Amino acid sequence: MAASYTSALAESLAPDVLDRFLRYVRIDTQSRRDRTSSPSTPGQLELGRVLVAELQEAGLDDVHLDEHGYVRGTLAGNGAAGAGEVIGLIAHMDTSPDAPGHGVEPIVHRSYHGGVIELPREGTVLDPAAMPELTDKLGHDIVTGSGDTLLGADDKAGVAEIMAGVAHLAAHPELPRPTVRVAFTPDEEIGEGATLFDVERFGARCAYTLDGSEIGELQDETFSAAEAILVIRGVEVHPGQATGKLVNALRLAAQIVAALPSATLTPETTADREGFIHPYELSGTPAKAEVRFILRDFDDDLLKNHIALLEETAKAVTAAVPRARLKLTVRDQYHNMQRVLSAVPDVTDAADAAIRAEGIEPIRRPIRGGTDGSRLSEMGLPTPNIFTGGHEYHSVREWASVQDMAAAAAVVVRLAEVWSRNGDG
Ligand SMILES: [Zn+2]
Repeated sequence: MAASYTSALAESLAPDVLDRFLRYVRIDTQSRRDRTSSPSTPGQLELGRVLVAELQEAGLDDVHLDEHGYVRGTLAGNGAAGAGEVIGLIAHMDTSPDAPGHGVEPIVHRSYHGGVIELPREGTVLDPAAMPELTDKLGHDIVTGSGDTLLGADDKAGVAEIMAGVAHLAAHPELPRPTVRVAFTPDEEIGEGATLFDVERFGARCAYTLDGSEIGELQDETFSAAEAILVIRGVEVHPGQATGKLVNALRLAAQIVAALPSATLTPETTADREGFIHPYELSGTPAKAEVRFILRDFDDDLLKNHIALLEETAKAVTAAVPRARLKLTVRDQYHNMQRVLSAVPDVTDAADAAIRAEGIEPIRRPIRGGTDGSRLSEMGLPTPNIFTGGHEYHSVREWASVQDMAAAAAVVVRLAEVWSRNGDG
């Protein structure tokens, strides 16, 4: 076994994982915000059709792509012991709208030498000095884009790992397994991956997303999240006749943003369990301005405080300008999955055991973000998150280690084994 692989199983799965991954990333599945249908873009259906064919080829039953762009398939359990439990495996097909996602041309850099990796386009480089995880991958095969697009390891690494893992299970009926349901979701990156997910029909006791990053990650805590849209209406008057009349909504918007905390409560000044108020889009004219925020915290009460602070700040700034009008709309996005998962500890424990069975020490850190599992857990399908081996998501520097992707595929196989034992008791 080559030293950089976690097991002989991982090494045997690597060619299949890589082959599938390179095929999937070439399909443009970038999702689009403010969607009018599901999925938001047709490329996701194209990948969905490829996955349906591959699941059928692997021998799964009940395989189909539904009208909203969700792919599903079932691998029946074997043996009396494990057949009773039904567990799910989930990954998302779309890629982020935050970096170019069309025309991905993946490159495999064999046996990483430890230095700077130069990509052919746009002068993009992967510098280990700026990417501590890369320094740990000496000797690994590193997959990147060509420098002008994202790679799409988020989350096609997860898709490829689940595909390779279940194809291996299907081809090896002597390996014990519960019934395994697979789902590939659209539009996760725009926060809609769980929206039209039919939890009841999926019929699993629990599920696992493969949508994490560094090898070993196992996450059962996510942010609780809200979006706030602040609309300010001013009074537009010709600047030459504006004395005492003009109320400039754009200026008020800028003042509100400036009045919010900037040394704390921002994404760039917080870490670990600290939350934030993050303005991410501002547009406007003197007549009307709009600022969009996301608000995040691990604690629901603290999240409420952040929302209250935003509202108080906006009101305080505009208090002296009675003719300005303010409207704040807050939308709940998702909640920390921990409250659901703490009630069913065997779900996360099984993933912990599967990762250890692959010879990896689990890394247990809360996610400063959300996954499909945040909302699926709330919807009644407890769903922690497992690593994929991808890094630098949503950027042209995105990369993934073949060895770590293979380890994730091996964890899928080990997870089936763990659950076939859980079914005994
Ligand atoms: Zn993702």
